[in-house]
Amino acid sequence: MHCVKMTMTPTTLIDEPQEEIHELLYDYLHVLYRNGQIYRDYELVKTDIAYCAFVTLPERDSLDDKYAGFFVRDYTQRVNKWFALSFEYIGENLGYGEPCVCENPSWYYLNAQVNDCSPVVCGDCRRRRPLYRLPYIMGYDEFYPLRGWQHSYFSMDTIWFHGVSDRFSYRQMRDPNSSLSKEGRELCGAFEKATGKPFYYFLFYNYGSRKNKLCPICGKPWQKIEGGDDDVNKRCEDCRLIAE
Ligand SMILES: [Zn+2]
Ligand SMILES: [Zn+2]
Repeated sequence: MHCVKMTMTPTTLIDEPQEEIHELLYDYLHVLYRNGQIYRDYELVKTDIAYCAFVTLPERDSLDDKYAGFFVRDYTQRVNKWFALSFEYIGENLGYGEPCVCENPSWYYLNAQVNDCSPVVCGDCRRRRPLYRLPYIMGYDEFYPLRGWQHSYFSMDTIWFHGVSDRFSYRQMRDPNSSLSKEGRELCGAFEKATGKPFYYFLFYNYGSRKNKLCPICGKPWQKIEGGDDDVNKRCEDCRLIAE
């Protein structure tokens, strides 16, 4: 939630077509976003002498090399071929809450009702865990499948919220065996394997739903979570589901 101005100043005469340079800079920002080092609200601006990007970081040091993965390093190198990168701290972005910086969270859950930042929530502090603080999964060197699923989920949530195709969209989020939920639960399973910590899947229920007494997979009553807030307060440990 820190706002930083990145400046990319040309260090050499650029003989590539402008569109390719713009594409490179957008790709660079996008891989930073995919790795969780910046949020999705980035803006790229061209000035007379340089390019600037206004980016939001979860932590003040989120752009540090120690958090970079293969793609971020690769794109940083490509950008460095043409530009000198510099960073200026602007201030706090008030549109976001604090991220999770717990030393070693004891459990997590996946909830993609947000589109800009991390879909992974720390069970201990209930804050969003920056993705670069999590291991990569499913054999990828980045969070490509997670981000893809996150955008599908968020789109489904938007469709449901605006009442378009609401039976279909609600079922996708409500049914643990819908294609959307299955993919989400696979991601949780992969994270659980990689982190060694319980990793739950958030199951959406419409407010006031009376059918939300039992776990929809095993049929046993939900277990109340100690210290749970209004948003998520019950879970099924066997099926790794969490609900509101
Ligand atoms: Zn935490
Ligand atoms: Zn269950």
